[in-house]
Amino acid sequence: KYKARVKGDYKYELGELASTLNHMAQEIVRSNQIKDDFISSISHELRTPLTSIKGWSETIHSGGFDPDETKIGLQIISKETERLIGLVEEILDFSKLQQNEMKLVMGKVALKELLKEIMLNMWTKAEKKNIKLVLESDENPIVIGDANRLKQVFLNLVDNAIKFSEEHSEIQIVLNCYPEQVEVDVQDNGLGISEEHLNRVRDRFFQVNPLNGGTGLGLAISQQLVEQHQGTLVIQSELGKGTVVTVMLPLSNENDSIS
Ligand code: ADP
Repeated sequence: KYKARVKGDYKYELGELASTLNHMAQEIVRSNQIKDDFISSISHELRTPLTSIKGWSETIHSGGFDPDETKIGLQIISKETERLIGLVEEILDFSKLQQNEMKLVMGKVALKELLKEIMLNMWTKAEKKNIKLVLESDENPIVIGDANRLKQVFLNLVDNAIKFSEEHSEIQIVLNCYPEQVEVDVQDNGLGISEEHLNRVRDRFFQVNPLNGGTGLGLAISQQLVEQHQGTLVIQSELGKGTVVTVMLPLSNENDSIS
């Protein structure tokens, strides 16, 4: 009887082990697929600006342009180079976060001022699509954080909002203060995200439509940076209606002295 029981447990354990291994194998296949997709999409993202830079610089070098055309060519080369630097920085940031090597330079950050800077930075991009950027805030809370990294988070959120909004729409950045935390909502009335995709958009490399460009790393990086500030990033969205990304950050007790 004892032997039978041991044999039975043994069989059961083997069954469990087989199903765990099977699950692990599926995970490995899935994560390899994600990486393959990422490599092909990132290669495309890198190749497009490189091809443009190569084409323009070769024609300028061969003397094939008049001074005005040369000026336009050099402007394009400079813009595409910036795009490349942005892409490479995004990949490096992601890799640093993955390896827990992202060092934050903490200090007092006046959030409303930071959001005003974001508005200024994104103004031209929004204007190209006739999108109005609106900042709503009655207060100017102080948080303790890395100003450059927080800027990176909000630039990414507003950039996404512009990218996935129709022309002539409006994007609102709303700042609200609570006793222990601040909330920043970036709201758009754009494409929205289906329920099926909503849980996955913060996954690294995930894009609803890879043809839209980008790396699928922006939200993964933003979420990790917010979490490094002891905050949270939540996305609510409805397909065809729009998206609200809410960032909550702990309020610094410095606010007691300024209120
Ligand atoms: P990227 O923008 O580089 O593709 P992100 O991680 O920032 O990567 O976003 C992942 C995906 O989430 C986007 O490709 C898009 O499909 C979706 N997404 C993000 N923000 C929005 C938004 N405001 N409206 C609609 N879809 C969005």
